[in-house]
Amino acid sequence: MARPTKALISQSALCHNYQVAQELAPNSNNLAVVKANAYGHGAVVIASILEPLVPAFGVACIEEALELRAGGISKPILLLEGIFSNDEVEIAVTNNFWIMVDNSQQADWVLNANISQPVNVWLKVDTGMHRLGVQPKLVNDIYLALKASVNVCEEIVLATHFSSADDHESSETKNQIKIFNETKTLLQKSLADSEIIPCSLSNSAGLLACPEARLDWNRVGFMLYGNSPLTKDNEASKRLKPVMTLMSAIISIREIAAGQSVGYNQTWTATRTTKIATVAIGYGDGYPRGAKSGTPTLINGQIAPLAGRVSMDMLTIDVTDIKDVDIGDDVFLWGPELPVNEIAKYSDTIGYEALTRMPKRTPSILVD
Ligand SMILES: *Cc1c(COP(=O)(O)O)cnc(C)c1O
Repeated sequence: MARPTKALISQSALCHNYQVAQELAPNSNNLAVVKANAYGHGAVVIASILEPLVPAFGVACIEEALELRAGGISKPILLLEGIFSNDEVEIAVTNNFWIMVDNSQQADWVLNANISQPVNVWLKVDTGMHRLGVQPKLVNDIYLALKASVNVCEEIVLATHFSSADDHESSETKNQIKIFNETKTLLQKSLADSEIIPCSLSNSAGLLACPEARLDWNRVGFMLYGNSPLTKDNEASKRLKPVMTLMSAIISIREIAAGQSVGYNQTWTATRTTKIATVAIGYGDGYPRGAKSGTPTLINGQIAPLAGRVSMDMLTIDVTDIKDVDIGDDVFLWGPELPVNEIAKYSDTIGYEALTRMPKRTPSILVD
């Protein structure tokens, strides 16, 4: 007794993907980004599997970090978006959360906090994304103030974030690295020569596609879940194995005549006698409502196209050309044979969004 809709989570694929990151950057610390419920895969489950392998985790905010602690995760956790109020400095120290300082207000909160032990801080530089990070000309003052503060641990990582590392045609990553290096060189001049500035540039795309961006720390997210962030695959990205398989089963089959339509608002009409299979998964289960008729699904090893609008709890597939199709048959919506990036294109989005929208209703089942 159970609705057949589920997300299988492959432990071995996850560890394999982390291994790929390690092999690409054996001299870096590769922290695992598990924000947004580990990109929809289940934050505590994913972090528990990775904990023996990784030096630290990254999340967006303190709520996500506390969820990991409540789930028994003990490695350091970097707050990528920094803190949202001054009282979070104390919570961070108590829980061994590391703070990304993304602007001068966050720096002031750290500097003025009344804490009993120092907090681990990273300073983000805005090298071109223009979203977060301090302007290059302010880096020296803020870095030195943090460095001089008893509230801050000895080593402060200098970080930045790429806007276009996924795009092999863009020269922006090179520009950003150049600005980062100039900023770092200036900063080094105001520090003793013996002071080493640890650096962190890469997200998944930077790590996969940009060898010169593999520095002391990489912040590895999407690739851990086994899909490529790159617009054009390379050798490394081809090695990734999708961690999530989204599946359900056929709960009804009917034959309709040419001219009859399927689903809400009759957006799809049969042009021949057609066999329609109804599947127990919809946008309430994380499948994108925007997926157009024609989006591929996989039934009995054969590709079958979506026909008609995705409903909240169900969707409909044209199985006329599928051999031996029956009620109860498994239907795969994405996974190793059907990359989520490809499916996402049919609804004008990206794999990141499709995965991150996985709701509570869809149970995750851990498999080898
Ligand atoms: C989300 C995030 C990452 C991870 O990015 P991926 O593309 O998923 O690897 C890295 N750094 C920062 C600051 C982030 O917000």
